[in-house]
Amino acid sequence: MTTRIFSKQEWVEALKSLKEDYKVFVPVRDGEYHNFKALDDGKKPDFDYQNTRLSAKGVVYPQSERMFICSLDENDAEAFIMKEAPKEYPPQVVAGIRSCDAHAMRLVNVNFDNPEYKDPWWVRRYRATILVGLGCNEPCSTCFCTLAGGSPFNRDVLDVLLYDLGDRFLAEVITEKGGEFFSRLEGGKEAEGPDKKMAQELENKALEGMPEPLSVEVLREKVLLDLFNAPFWEDVAFSCINCGTCTYLCPTCWCFDIQDEVYKKEGDRIRNWDSCMFPLFTLHGSGHNPRGQKFQRVRQRFMHKLKYYVDKYHDGIQCSGCGRCVQFCPVNIDIRQVLELMKNF
Ligand code: SF4
Ligand code: SF4
Repeated sequence: MTTRIFSKQEWVEALKSLKEDYKVFVPVRDGEYHNFKALDDGKKPDFDYQNTRLSAKGVVYPQSERMFICSLDENDAEAFIMKEAPKEYPPQVVAGIRSCDAHAMRLVNVNFDNPEYKDPWWVRRYRATILVGLGCNEPCSTCFCTLAGGSPFNRDVLDVLLYDLGDRFLAEVITEKGGEFFSRLEGGKEAEGPDKKMAQELENKALEGMPEPLSVEVLREKVLLDLFNAPFWEDVAFSCINCGTCTYLCPTCWCFDIQDEVYKKEGDRIRNWDSCMFPLFTLHGSGHNPRGQKFQRVRQRFMHKLKYYVDKYHDGIQCSGCGRCVQFCPVNIDIRQVLELMKNF
């Protein structure tokens, strides 16, 4: 296993030296929070953060993306013919992603790249992306990655894993793709025994107090219609204000809406992240809305993550335990409590 030690300054310089080979995304302070931004001259990477406000999902699946374009100029021989919008898929690196958010990428990939459906833009960008994880030394009280099948230093999905040893990073190569990236990194020196020991101790300590893994069988055995008609949904939904924060911040939510926009003699077909918590999400052209009531939308969110996904994919729950929805819901609706209700019903 290849491991190298970089001082924190060296690490940033090493990433900068890759700019010719990769588009590099790093955590950057963004007001009160951190978010991933492309590393360019104006951006100062800051790896001292709990987690980014938005996950790195947007690096592969942008919040708003032009899908098709068409000319609306009647003098144009190709007027009104939709064409795929020009796109590029350069090799890219997300440096500093937490393990929970990398796990979330895999869950979204299950939806966008499967035998029945392949989203061409997700597939190409995801395959061009290298994930460099940053182990989580001190998970916060809202984190529950272990319950969702991960861990603070989970290697699944990652190509390289970083351990924060205070003034330096220990970097461990996990995949061939990570090795290729690593071979281009300048600086650093081979990691030695004491640093490796410290990394292992951090990993062990981070697991203390984290919840036990969920037995997904408990959810799978539930009869879908029983859960759907359970009496607790009105109570769960009572305080929800349908703000959509939970879904917009969620690294595993993948729903989008498609809109046509016109500007002068150009037309764009754009897809934008959408939220099942919004009343318009399921409004039909006829005016009928199958989820017109708030509790129906709240139920949809939890049933999708904790029952429909479980039954359809046999791949755990559609949640990575990042805790964002718990932390930022303005009325403190907690998916862990809803999970308990569903398990015990
Ligand atoms: S963040 Fe909370 S209040 Fe807002 S839509 Fe989600 S559950 Fe409802
Ligand atoms: S449902 Fe909540 S805890 Fe789970 S991945 Fe989404 S935001 Fe994170």
